[in-house]
Amino acid sequence: MKETTAPLNLAGVGIGPFNLSLAALLAPLTQVNSCFFDRRPAFAWHPGMMLPGTRMQTSFLKDMVTPVDPTSPYSFLAYLVAHGRFYRFLHAEFPRVRRAEFADYLRWVAEQLPNLAFNQDVAGIDFDQHGFLLKFNNDYAVRSANLVIGTGVAPYIPTWAQIHMGSRCLHSSHYMITDHQLQDRRVVIIGGGQSGAEIFLDVLSEAHGKPKEIIWISRRPNLEPLDETAFTNEYFTPDYVKNFHRQPDSRRDRIVRTQTLAGDGASPQTLIEISQYLYENDFLRHKDSNHQYRIMTNREVRRMTRNSTDWQLHMHNRFDESDESVSADVVILATGYRQAVPDCLAPLTGRFERDSENNIVLTKDYQALWDGPAIHRIYMMNAGLRTHGIADPQLSLAAWRAAVIVNSLLDQKIYCTDPAPSPLYWSEASNGYDEENHATPSTFSACAGRE
Ligand SMILES: Cc1cc2nc3c(=O)[nH]c(=O)nc-3n(C[C@H](O)[C@H](O)[C@H](O)COP(=O)(O)OP(=O)(O)OC[C@H]3O[C@@H](n4cnc5c(N)ncnc54)[C@H](O)[C@@H]3O)c2cc1C
Repeated sequence: MKETTAPLNLAGVGIGPFNLSLAALLAPLTQVNSCFFDRRPAFAWHPGMMLPGTRMQTSFLKDMVTPVDPTSPYSFLAYLVAHGRFYRFLHAEFPRVRRAEFADYLRWVAEQLPNLAFNQDVAGIDFDQHGFLLKFNNDYAVRSANLVIGTGVAPYIPTWAQIHMGSRCLHSSHYMITDHQLQDRRVVIIGGGQSGAEIFLDVLSEAHGKPKEIIWISRRPNLEPLDETAFTNEYFTPDYVKNFHRQPDSRRDRIVRTQTLAGDGASPQTLIEISQYLYENDFLRHKDSNHQYRIMTNREVRRMTRNSTDWQLHMHNRFDESDESVSADVVILATGYRQAVPDCLAPLTGRFERDSENNIVLTKDYQALWDGPAIHRIYMMNAGLRTHGIADPQLSLAAWRAAVIVNSLLDQKIYCTDPAPSPLYWSEASNGYDEENHATPSTFSACAGRE
């Protein structure tokens, strides 16, 4: 195994939006020698779910840098200006940017950054007295003093579906990158969140042929909207995350369970689009061209069996407590994602501190607690649902979290990470007063950008 470059201060594994944000915030800092690695040949953001017409669930201002450094050349506004479409964008008054445009912005940021390397699959990470050694599956290795893991979350495949996976039983993350023909087939979509809703609309659009029947199954009691209202958005703020992290492990878990619809429902616009489509389908379209569909909420799929030609999905109806089954030629699992420690960390896996649910414990500055020397740190992105709350898997605080990590890595306040507190009084112990920065709502002065 050949060691390639000079040792790094920070090596990043994975280049999704979260490590991309960190790479962008590190780019102007000459004191850090960093490099981020991704197994893909070039930057791509959820290519399997890049459905036509889909929109972002977050504001374009929550980009890779703006919340902590609006002067950065890697902002969404800088992207618009660089492409000469600032005024046109403004005049078009998009309520939410299209996902394809945001993905193109992310790709544009990635193309400009000097500290990214693609086609680099990190196969294993060892540790010795000189620090971490990242081994790639091409016989090369890179040494680094610190690590940041940004490998994302893993598609969740229910146990009953696992033996059936293939080109006709697929997870939503593969929807647009699997060659599937739906003409005259019975298509079953499982999962009532945003991905399920988008795929339902896409199947109705006949982009892959006109199905014989479309069945959309959800365990939820109804097609439930994502809560995007003002005070729910306070969960996606630095102030809330700091308060949340101070709570004990058992309480945090309980809190997260009550907040599902703040981060995991179908967007209200998508639900209206579906409702309007179905109205036109049922009353305005000619009988020969309309779709046969069933939306089955409150159903929990418990088993999936295979006949010679199709599948049977066996479900429990939680509304009337009956057992039911449907037949399918194609099954699409919009069953979400789960946190997962990447395989490349296997050599270190026994060295992490775990909580009662076996999750790696993260400090407030996103370091994984481990038994190695404190000067060698392992930061983790998208692994803190239980420690930092429901904002953790979302883009809302991506730039803020990256800024917290920069400050922690350099043991210096490079970026200001203490915006004004929430108007909600989360806890008597801490609300309205940040003990680290002595900022109160009345004494708080605007802080943005590098200090
Ligand atoms: C379809 C979809 C739409 C979403 N839309 C929104 C939205 O509008 N707003 C919002 O706030 N959130 C949204 N999210 C949630 C969240 O923002 C995204 O999931 C985001 O991509 C998470 O970023 P990440 O950096 O953790 O991981 P990912 O984007 O999954 O990137 C991880 C990267 O790591 C690489 N990798 C993995 N293992 C290795 C290895 N061993 N070696 C090298 N590279 C490796 C992968 O190739 C991949 O490129 C969406 C999620 C999905 C699925």
